[in-house]
Amino acid sequence: MPAPQQHLFHPTINRQCCRACHACLSAAVCLPGAIQMTKAGEYPVIDVTRCSGCMLCVVVCPYDAVQDSE
Ligand code: SF4
Ligand code: SF4
Repeated sequence: MPAPQQHLFHPTINRQCCRACHACLSAAVCLPGAIQMTKAGEYPVIDVTRCSGCMLCVVVCPYDAVQDSE
């Protein structure tokens, strides 16, 4: 598996906070396409190997569910 890109923010979605609102899934949020759905109606997941660390997903999440994994 490729190593995560070298930036300080490594986002993960805390499923205890996430309400599957899908705000973070807008194409305008994650330009590298790192946030993905596994199945319809489920929680999104973040592929850290594609993440640029821009933190936009943190800004748009209304439930503070996107958190630093480190
Ligand atoms: S930090 Fe930026 S690039 Fe990484 S998952 Fe969030 S929106 Fe996508
Ligand atoms: S914006 Fe936040 S609450 Fe909504 S699906 Fe994404 S991580 Fe979950």
